[in-house]
Formats: sequence, C-alpha cells, structure tokens
Amino acid sequence: MAPTGPSLETLTSGNRRALAKSITLVESKRPQDRQAATTLIESALPHTGRSLRIGISGVPGVGKSTFIESFGLHLISAGKRVAVLAVDPSSPVAGGSILGDKTRMAELSRAEAAFIRPSPSAGVMGGIAQRTREAILLCEAAGYDVILIETVGVGQSEVEVHGMVDFFMLLMVPNAGDDLQGIKRGITELVDGVVINKADGESLGLAMQTKQFYQSAFSIFRTQDAWKPQIMTCSALKRENLDAVWEMICQFEAQARESGSLAQRRATQNIVWLKKLISTELEARILASEEVKQSYPELEAQVAAGELTPFSAASQILGMVFK
Ligand code: GDP
Repeated sequence: MAPTGPSLETLTSGNRRALAKSITLVESKRPQDRQAATTLIESALPHTGRSLRIGISGVPGVGKSTFIESFGLHLISAGKRVAVLAVDPSSPVAGGSILGDKTRMAELSRAEAAFIRPSPSAGVMGGIAQRTREAILLCEAAGYDVILIETVGVGQSEVEVHGMVDFFMLLMVPNAGDDLQGIKRGITELVDGVVINKADGESLGLAMQTKQFYQSAFSIFRTQDAWKPQIMTCSALKRENLDAVWEMICQFEAQARESGSLAQRRATQNIVWLKKLISTELEARILASEEVKQSYPELEAQVAAGELTPFSAASQILGMVFK
C-alpha cells in the first residue's frame, strides 16, 4: 500500500520528521507515490518562496562541508533556520551519498534550527534536480529561512543547481592563479560570488593574491550586469569572515529584490522547470507504453545497424503513443 504522506499541518509546523518524510515521499521511485507527492507539494505552495536559496559549489576538498557547517551555525546564531540539501549526481552509492552524510556536519546536524538532507540517490523518478526543487519547496513550507544547496563542482550539476537558486556561490581555495578551470568552463556566467576558503595560517597571503586575481578576471567578464560578482576570502575551519560573506549575500538579496531581478530569476527558473517537467512526463508515458516496450529493442538495433534513421525510429515510437 502507498504510504500516506505527512499532513500539511505537521509540515508547516516545522516538524523535522514530517519534513524528512515529505522529502522521502517526493523522492519515492514508486509511481503510486507520485500522486500523494504532487498533492502535498501543491498544498504546500502557498507557504513557499520566502526563503533565500543559496547554491554552494566547489571541487572536492575545497571545504564545502566545513563551510556549510560553520556558515550554517553562523546563520543560526543570527536567528535563521537553515536547511541543507545536496545535489550529487555523481554518487555511485545507492540510497544516499557521502555528500549528505550527516557526520560531516556533526555540530550543525545537532542544532535545533538546522535540517540536513542527504543527496537523493541516482535513479529517483524524474531525476535528482527535479526532486531537489521539490525538496526546496518543502523546506520553505517547513519554515526554513535559508536553504543551502551543495553540489560538487563537476559540470552539469552546477548548471542545474544554478537553475534553482537565488545566489550561486563558488567555493575555491587559494591558488597561484594558474588554475583557470572555473573561468574556462564559463562559470563566470553562473556565479554571484566567489569565496576563497582556507584563508588562514600560511595560506593567508596566497588567498589575498587569489582574491585579487579573480577580482580582475571577473571585472573583464561581467561588465554589464547590475550585480558584480564579489570575491571574498574566509576560513571555514577558523570560522573567520563568515559574517562578511553573509553580509555580501544580504546585499545581493536587497538589491535583487529592489530591482525585481530576484522575482525575474525565479520566474525564469519556473518556466525552465515547467518545460523540463513536460519532457520528463512525456518520456515516462512513452516508455510506459506496452507497444513501445515491445518494439523499442528492435528499433534501437536497427538504428545501431544503420538500417533505420534515428528520426524515423523516433517518429514510429511517437506514433505508437500519439495515435
Ligand atoms: P569538501 O570535500 O569540499 O566538502 O571539503 P571538506 O569540508 O571535507 O574539507 C576538506 C579538508 O579541508 C578537510 O581536511 C578540512 O578540515 C579542510 N578545511 C576546510 N576548510 C578549511 C579552512 O578554512 N582552512 C583550512 N586550513 N582547512 C580547511
């Protein structure tokens, strides 16, 4: 029997268990849970949209979990309720990943005002990004003020996370300036702020140089935008300069709300999401057709053998579903 999800009342009361269960429901792979999930999300919608959604990306080892723990605790001390979600499509571990492992953020996970959710496992219905969007809405309905969405800086997941947040932060480490990776990948188009972590001890001087380097690099790339991506330094480990990072994000938020660009960004994201939902749903329906299931292997083999063009195979498949 399909489990009934938590009620909207328990969710909006801020009950963490209800939130965890609600997210489990939307992540469920069972088609019969989808209806309950959709109903829950729709009823939660009026209670959403009030948080600030912050994406945090960076290659493994830059200090994302240390940063999220320290930054999260800083926000909590400023009176915020903080939810942490992770997008980690690269994780080979089924049923949760190292990225979401609570032991990484032991102190934060013990805090009453924090909610930490491991990354959904690969293969959830409709994809990880879509489920994470829904999880954001559920966290908002549960009253979280700031939602931190963590992702490993490896290509596609950054683009996906950018598509669901208000502020996209790239975490880096002090480096000699020859590591132009982020800039090469066109990431300057995505980021609203770069935070150079591990600005402590012997790395402090190098961190300042790195900051200057990125400041001049970014001033070349992003000249027309109203918001100029800020380059900051901090030490997540020593918990230094986190207030300045938060201050920068608050400035961004104030400016983006004032100018309407925040609302505009969310509207654009919703349209992209809508289109994505349509294509995901269409694909699911096509693949669910018995006729398609039976004919597909043969059509695929013909395409592979060059006996049939992908175009006519696709058109035959669509013809089976849309008669
Ligand atoms: P992640 O893979 O990006 O989540 O990185 P972690 O948070 O696991 O950190 C990787 C390593 O860097 C750990 O050994 C941390 O203790 C260390 N680290 C994280 N932040 C800082 C920092 O601000 N300063 C220093 N010196 N080390 C840090």
